[in-house]
This record gives sequence, structure tokens and C-alpha cells, in this order.
Amino acid sequence: MPKKIILTGDRPTGRLHIGHYVGSLRRRVELQESGEFDKIFIMIADAQALTDNAGNPEKVRQNIIEVALDYLSAGLDPEKSVIFIQSQISELTELTFFYNNLVTVQRLRRNPTVKAEIQMRGFTESEDNDNKAGIPVGFFCYPISQAADITAFKATTVPVGEDQEPMIEQTREIVRKFNSTYGPALVEPEILLPDNAACLRLPGTDGKAKMSKSLGNCIYLSDPADVVWEKVRGMYTDPGHLQVSDPGKVEGNTVFTYLDAFCKPEHFDKFASCFVGKKVSFEFHNLDEVKAQYRAGGLGDMMLKNFLNAVLNDTLEPIRERRKELEKNIPYVYEVLRKGTEEARKVASQTLADVKAAMKINYFDEGVLDELIKEQQLKYSE
Ligand code: ATP
Ligand code: MG
Repeated sequence: MPKKIILTGDRPTGRLHIGHYVGSLRRRVELQESGEFDKIFIMIADAQALTDNAGNPEKVRQNIIEVALDYLSAGLDPEKSVIFIQSQISELTELTFFYNNLVTVQRLRRNPTVKAEIQMRGFTESEDNDNKAGIPVGFFCYPISQAADITAFKATTVPVGEDQEPMIEQTREIVRKFNSTYGPALVEPEILLPDNAACLRLPGTDGKAKMSKSLGNCIYLSDPADVVWEKVRGMYTDPGHLQVSDPGKVEGNTVFTYLDAFCKPEHFDKFASCFVGKKVSFEFHNLDEVKAQYRAGGLGDMMLKNFLNAVLNDTLEPIRERRKELEKNIPYVYEVLRKGTEEARKVASQTLADVKAAMKINYFDEGVLDELIKEQQLKYSE
């Protein structure tokens, strides 16, 4: 049976938020517990984070531990998943260097995620941009380095949010190009998207773009309960829902998107009191009933937000509690990272050896040099 291997990760540009959780982290923990995978590699992508934070290495350095704490608090188990730091595996940069030759500038330019991210970061394409920041070459090429990350571990499965789809497609192209040019050394990965549509690209609390560390529209896994409430209270709903009695819109209403992503059947019983008010009360048994009432009018945003707050905290509270414990044991967290990095490096190093062998640039490997000498001697003896 071919091995089933997971590789995925996050950029240490901030603490992890509920978009990361529903887009990838929750799934990783489920997959880890399923026992279906031979290996699970979880990467803290600090080198990738530096591609658009070159001037702020301290931010990246500080956030490595934050991401690691979030991982362990959310249920990633170092006994079952290998957690490692990208920059400490120099084999990844070597692979990137060889893959660079298999991708055109034009192909990178077409990548819709890179395009959107360039715009979001205010990088400009213009040559005449003395006052504006241009696109760092490393940032522009990060899809190639991501292909190196995935293929170094011979990953078959990459559980990520929808924004990563073009990256996985790019990786698959590189694998096909490499294998057809040099021989079948690499494995073509499959993307694993969340099956719940609300989780593909969770919007920010502003309801506009995707929830993203860089946009400041996040609810973080480590936010205390009062901060979560402040953020939920200020959330975007339906601007047309002015009076409680007005019919409300569910589509595009971020509160409902979050409920779609987080609500579990038991929440209706557990948090029934959220729908008991001074003037009006409701008894709901599932989210469809809540939506129907909102559409009909009569269900106020505050009641709904109270319920969302309870639902979110039901997931976040245990994560917060575990984090508090882990924060008291920082040496343990770094030891997890050190050990994971050591293990990951061995695997990446084997893949790099396979890649160099396929490319025949392993001149000094055992046996190879003798063959090479013979070949050249033959050439010169003719
Ligand atoms: P940055 O702004 O620094 O790029 P980010 O918030 O976009 O940070 P990443 O580290 O780039 O986070 O993404 C890590 C993983 O989380 C990826 O698999 C990505 O698809 C997923 N992810 C990030 N944001 C969301 C979101 N809002 N909804 C669903 N998945 C998300
Ligand atoms: Mg991102």
C-alpha cells in the first residue's frame, strides 16, 4: 500500500485564529486521531513568513512559539504529529532552487492567491515605484518554495483552506514536470478542503475579506472570553436588519457563517437560555429553525450574537485552558519543536538525495563517482 502522508502548516505572523481552526487545524486533529495516516508533518513556515516580513524578523521569531502553543492547545499531539520549523531544514531551500527552473514567471503571475496577496500587502508591479514597495522576489516565488515543503515529505494529502488551492495545483504541476523530465522521484499531492462550505474561507469579523492575521479582523484561539464577546458584539450582520421585527438576511451575514462553521446539534439544548428574552423567547432545535426565524423577522441580532458567543466559547474554552497550562512549560514546547525538526530533517534529506539522484547531480555519491570516471575515461579514450 502506498503511504498516506500529510504536510500542512501556518506562517508564524501572528497567533492562530478561528479561520485557521475551521479551515485546517480542526481537520488536522481529526485526521491525527483517525489513525489513517502513516505520517503527519506540521510546519511552522517561518521562512515563508519572512518573504513578506523581511524587515521584521522579530515578529516572525516571536510568533513561532505562539503558533506552537496554539497547535498543542488545539489538540495536535507531538507523539502522533511531527511539528517542525521550516527555516531549520536547509534541504527545503535546495529543493526550491531546483524547482525554480521548472516554473515560469508568467505562470507565477497567473496565480490568483499570489495576485490577491500582492494587492492586499500594497506591493506594486510598477517599475517606477520609488515611494512604494515592490514585490519581493522571495514572496513572488513562495508557491515554489511551498512545492518544496510539500514534496520534501512526499505528502499525499494537504489539508488547507480554499486560498491554498492554486498553491497545491502549482505543486502538482512541478511534480509532473520534474518526474517527466528527470524520473519519478516526487509524489503528487491532493488538496483536502473542509467539507463545510462556511469553513473554506471564513470571513473576518468585518464581514468583508477572509479572516486574516494581516487584516486585523480576527478572533484568535487565545482571545479571552471578554475579548471574544467584544468582537462578536461588533460583528457585521445584515445592514438592512434595523428593527428586530424586520426580516433579516442570512446569506452573507457573518454571524450565520460562523454559526455554520461552529454550531453543533447539542448547542441548542445547552445554550437554549440565549433565546429567552424579556419580551420574546424562542425554542430552536437546529440552525435551520434559527435561520427561518431570522428571515421572517422578530429575532434580534443581540440574541443571535449571544448564542454565537456561547457556541464559540464552547470550542475556545478548552483550547484556552490547555494554552494556560502550556504557557507554564515553555521549555517543553521548544523541545517538541527541536525534536520534530530533527525528525523532519531526516525525511527531507532523503528526498533531496532522491531528487539529486534523479537529476544526476549526485556526483560524489557512493558508486556514482566510479561510474562517472569510467564514462569520461571512455569518452577520452575514443
Ligand atoms: P497571513 O495573513 O500571514 O497570510 P493567514 O491568516 O492567511 O496569515 P496562513 O498562515 O497564510 O494564515 O494560513 C494557514 C492555513 O490556514 C492555510 O491552510 C489557510 O488556507 C488557512 N486559512 C487561513 N485563513 C483562513 C480562513 N479565513 N478561512 C479558512 N482557512 C483559512
Ligand atoms: Mg495567508
